[in-house]
Amino acid sequence: MYCLGIESTADGFGIGIATFEGEILANVVSEYVPERGGIHPREAAQHHSKVVGSVLKEAFERARIRPKDLKAVAFSQGPGLGPCLRTGATAARALAVYLGVPLIGVNHCVAHIEIAKLVTKSQDPVTLYVSGGNTIVAAYEAGRYRAFGETLDIAVGNCLDSFAIEAGLRRQGGLPLGAIVERLAEKGETLIELPYSVKGMDVSFSGLLTAVVQLLRSSHYRLEDLCYSLQETAFSMLAEVTERALAHTEKPEVLLTGGVAANKRLQSMLKAVADEHGAKFCVVPKQYAMDNGAMIAWTGVLAYECGMITPVEKSFVKPKWRLDEVDVRWLGVR
Ligand code: AMP
Ligand code: MG
Repeated sequence: MYCLGIESTADGFGIGIATFEGEILANVVSEYVPERGGIHPREAAQHHSKVVGSVLKEAFERARIRPKDLKAVAFSQGPGLGPCLRTGATAARALAVYLGVPLIGVNHCVAHIEIAKLVTKSQDPVTLYVSGGNTIVAAYEAGRYRAFGETLDIAVGNCLDSFAIEAGLRRQGGLPLGAIVERLAEKGETLIELPYSVKGMDVSFSGLLTAVVQLLRSSHYRLEDLCYSLQETAFSMLAEVTERALAHTEKPEVLLTGGVAANKRLQSMLKAVADEHGAKFCVVPKQYAMDNGAMIAWTGVLAYECGMITPVEKSFVKPKWRLDEVDVRWLGVR
């Protein structure tokens, strides 16, 4: 039995195919890369509609299955950029209705956690989910993933990307902007003091971004030192709230997921937090860190098995759908 998943919350359009046993047969992603600046939602959506056909075809070829072998079609219903979400939802509805199989609306944040749990075999972690659009410390409690802490303004990936754009950095050879900042940070020598903003269990990155951009414009600092200091400050904030969530929940694992999880410095800081508390550290592999269709397909399987089907007439997108609004009925079921 197979489930196909469509991901289209932001700049990536992805289609994945998973078996009901948790094997990922295909995970094809086509990314929209703006000529300059950040993501323009309408342009990203146009990119997605252009590539739906070719990505779909490639996913079926990789998985070596036929459309009629599908048992369900899942899609990212939110949170994300409205025009992008609608493009993916439209494709998913068309496919599900044509094939006569159930449609499953998946929460993108839950999917980042579920794919990471599947591939790292973690069971009950405190998760730090860090990406271009989200920054959340979450753990399962009483039927839902609860947000123990989150950003009060921009996501950490957005903070790194915005700084990179200000510094005139460009994506090279498929490398995301955050990875380019990471490379420069490795050559940093001096830690420059920047605003460190933890408020209770929440974090804030907009003041940090403004401050580091001001220092950049002053031309008094090496770019490598600014990248290094930005990473050290932002990641220390994340490590602090993750550690507090871990101490409070006493969960056995720390799980790092989302696009920024690819960052080696963040990985080493979180591993230190986990080690300190005798917890196991797990990190999602790169191909499942960035937004991808496989995570939607797999979460679709979990939801399907609990009868969590989305009627077509209720399949409108939810750009602000929170992770803690989802009943994760499959936990404890499997
Ligand atoms: P996602 O929204 O989950 O697709 O993740 C995309 C975000 O991850 C973007 O903000 C990227 O710049 C960021 N990212 C990807 N690789 C790295 C890295 N090695 N270090 C920091 N950020 C990264
Ligand atoms: Mg994401």
